[in-house]
Amino acid sequence: MRVKRRRRGSGPSVLIVGGGFAGLSAMQALAGSGANVTLVDRNIYSTFQPLLYQVATAGLTSADVAYPLWAATGKAGARFRKGELARLDLVHRIATLNSGEDLSYDYLIIATGVSAAFFGVAGAAEYSISLYTRKDAVALRNTLLDALERRNEGLADPELDVTVVGGGATGVELAGTLAELRNIALPAAFPEIDRAAFRVRLIEMAPALLTPYRASLREYTRQQLVRRGVEVELGTTIKEVKADSVLLGDGSEHHSDITVWAAGISAPDTDWTAGLARGKGGRIEVGPDLKVTGLDRVFAVGDVCVNEQAPIAQLAQPAIQQGRHAGRQIVRLLAGRETEPFKYHDKGIMATIGRRSAVVELPVGVRLRGTLAWLAWLGLHLFYLLGSRNRLVTFVNLSWRYLTWSRGGGVILGDDVPDSKQIRRSPAGPPPGEVNQSN
Ligand SMILES: Cc1cc2nc3c(=O)[nH]c(=O)nc-3n(C[C@H](O)[C@H](O)[C@H](O)COP(=O)(O)OP(=O)(O)OC[C@H]3O[C@@H](n4cnc5c(N)ncnc54)[C@H](O)[C@@H]3O)c2cc1C
Repeated sequence: MRVKRRRRGSGPSVLIVGGGFAGLSAMQALAGSGANVTLVDRNIYSTFQPLLYQVATAGLTSADVAYPLWAATGKAGARFRKGELARLDLVHRIATLNSGEDLSYDYLIIATGVSAAFFGVAGAAEYSISLYTRKDAVALRNTLLDALERRNEGLADPELDVTVVGGGATGVELAGTLAELRNIALPAAFPEIDRAAFRVRLIEMAPALLTPYRASLREYTRQQLVRRGVEVELGTTIKEVKADSVLLGDGSEHHSDITVWAAGISAPDTDWTAGLARGKGGRIEVGPDLKVTGLDRVFAVGDVCVNEQAPIAQLAQPAIQQGRHAGRQIVRLLAGRETEPFKYHDKGIMATIGRRSAVVELPVGVRLRGTLAWLAWLGLHLFYLLGSRNRLVTFVNLSWRYLTWSRGGGVILGDDVPDSKQIRRSPAGPPPGEVNQSN
């Protein structure tokens, strides 16, 4: 089947930096406008972050959650450049990539997202694995499967402690799935492992999990995790992450073979952000129309931006809607019209805990939990996943996982970690994701 491609525009140039939810929806809004659009990303693919925890727990391959940016840009009549934004010359309107290439623009849309934040917790950056990129997810999966394999072969201490730090959606999804992996898949996939020796602990500083949700859904989530055997510790701070343990605020220490950091995010703070107004959390400050404060031709959208007067959650829907809005504002400016303020249409929030268990909160007061919420979560994630191949393969892989993992299916094979301790535990060494990037 031939893919329909738009012709490239030859009008004023629009540069979009970042091909995530926000950047791609800005590009789509500009398709057919006549603008000459270039999209830059440090990767050749867009990552579907909401399913990274499935890659990390061996339910999906890393290819299932990635979509090639040359395909997306081609369909929208835009040009793709792989590269990392290094500097911005806001006066001459030039963006310089780390390769040294200069890209000039008439309008710029910054959609670079955010990354893991360690809040100065000692050892967190060195000894924990975060879950923000595809490489993080593959690194976590390989470390986890390597640890299981070693124990299955009697090559390591039978005890395996996994600590997940952060009780937001990512931490809950990860802890729930790790517990199910242990409870359901382990006997068939790694029969020599004593399940009781594999502990999953979820540590959250706040007094509840999933703080943006209603109290009843928060409590439901906690109960569902406890039912799956997750040790949930609320109101608990982490003081230090060490090679084999986590030190808590009250001075006690938990042994931890694998520590996953899902506790926070931070905005970029680097050379190219130097001349940009910054708001809460270092995010780029925008006005009501999403133009960066004090700049006429630069917009910021998605997780990286904040409007201090009307802050919104750093989630996929706000990013999609903001990207679309910024694209449309540039179309208006090109037609000599004024920009309009951005209005967020709240479509609700959802998180999954495990098989047949999720929570959904819609703005009209509708609250769902259990199987129906889980099916809604599954359907929506498949719908928003980019690419028909990804949708099909993800549907097959997740169905396979949930239908067969008690028989040893549903665990995607990982790759050997040459020396997991050395990789993960050497502060001087490369981050784990850079060591092994295969599927
Ligand atoms: C593990 C996880 C699970 C999540 N689950 C959910 C969920 O279930 N529901 C939900 O609504 N939200 C979820 N989120 C949040 C959601 O994924 C984000 O809000 C959303 O991705 C933000 O979109 P964005 O386009 O602003 O940024 P991103 O999607 O992060 O895209 C930013 C892009 O910019 C590129 N980039 C960054 N810096 C540079 C640079 N200097 N030069 C060039 N390119 C650069 C990156 O490679 C990336 O492609 C989750 C997030 C994570 C990490």
